[in-house]
Parts: sequence; C-alpha cells; structure tokens
Amino acid sequence: LLKIGLTGGIASGKTTVSKLLAEKGVPVIDADVLGWRTYEPGTKTFAEVVAAFGDDLVAQDGTIDRKVLGGRVFGKPDEMKRLTDIVWPGIRELAGQELERLESAGERTALLEAAVLIEADWLDLVDEVWVTVVDPLVARERLMQRNGWSAEEADARINSQLTNQERLAHAGVVIENDGSLAELERAVEEAWAALQARRNGSA
Ligand code: ATP
Repeated sequence: LLKIGLTGGIASGKTTVSKLLAEKGVPVIDADVLGWRTYEPGTKTFAEVVAAFGDDLVAQDGTIDRKVLGGRVFGKPDEMKRLTDIVWPGIRELAGQELERLESAGERTALLEAAVLIEADWLDLVDEVWVTVVDPLVARERLMQRNGWSAEEADARINSQLTNQERLAHAGVVIENDGSLAELERAVEEAWAALQARRNGSA
C-alpha cells in the first residue's frame, strides 16, 4: 500500500483533489471525518475533552456541542493546544487503523487528506506528501466567494496557518491551484501519471 498524505492551506483545493483521486479508485481517508468520530460519546477522546473543557459542552442529545467548543478555543492558542493535544492523537490512531484496514484489503494506494498533516506531526503515517498550493490572494477570493467572508476574515484565517513555503519544505509532489478547475484536473492527472511511472520504475 502506497500511502499519500494530502495537505495544503485553507481553500487550496484539497477536497477537490481528493475527489479527483477518488474517481480514479483511490480510497480517501478524510481526517475531518475522523475528527468528528473523536467527539462521539463513549470514546476516550470524548471523555478527555469533556474533562478538560467542562460538562456544559455536552448537548441534550449527549454529543459534544462543537459550536460551544469552538467558542472556547478559537483565537485562544493555549486552549486550542489543549484541545488538539487530545484530539490529534485520537485522529492519528483512527487514521492508522484505516490505513491498516486498506492494506489488509489489498489496496494499492490510499490517500489521507489532512489540513494539519504537518502541524499534527502525522508525516510518518504516509509514504509521500502531496501539497496543494494557492496564492494567498487567490485563497482570499475563494474564501470570500465560498464562505461569504470579508477580505479581513479570509486573511486572518490564511495568516493563522502555516505558509505555503513551510508546507513546501515537506512536499514530494506539488499541485499548483491558482488557475481554473480544468487546469487543476490536468495537474492531478499529471501527478497521478508520474506516480504510476515512479511505481512501475521501482517495481
Ligand atoms: P478547506 O481547507 O476550506 O477545506 P480545501 O483545501 O479542501 O478547502 P476546496 O474545498 O477543494 O479546498 O476548494 C476551495 C474552494 O475553491 C471550493 O469552493 C472549490 O470549489 C473552489 N476551487 C478549488 N479549486 C478551484 C479552481 N481551480 N478554480 C476555481 N475554484 C476552485
């Protein structure tokens, strides 16, 4: 099983690239979805989050109210770190399990899509890192359009993340996404073809 980690800044095209690779038959593990699972009642991470942030996080239906939790951590780096110190190891464990499952199932390739692949230190889970890269001004435009944010809101989110340069230091494959969707599709085709060539060469 060749494990690809896909990461990139906000609105850089991770989800779009994942979809294009899924269409090629690559199983995609979405770290966001695993993140939701770490908030499910009955899990160790649920208990740890409630112990750290208070019982009043638990909604009527017994689940963690992620809006309330968000309010406790956004813009508060220490609180955010307290949360990610609980949740990231939980996601890492689930991702490892999913990758093992795909390996046992005889899959040849798997994609782990994770916005925080580098920040959470999950690089060792994957064999190669693909990074989607978009100019911050293009990301701002896309966030204003998709999320209805002001330029200031978009910039604040973009600037709170790693820079493209910091991500590129870890990239084996770079997918530029400043152009049209058709251009992005071509870039993914090229990266995919190059991967096949690399694998055939080494097989
Ligand atoms: P997030 O970090 O917010 O989850 P992401 O990295 O997964 O974002 P996408 O959701 O794939 O990025 O793309 C962000 C937005 O920009 C989406 O609305 C998507 O449709 C749009 N988009 C992506 N690539 C292009 C492109 N080349 N041209 C125009 N729009 C694009």
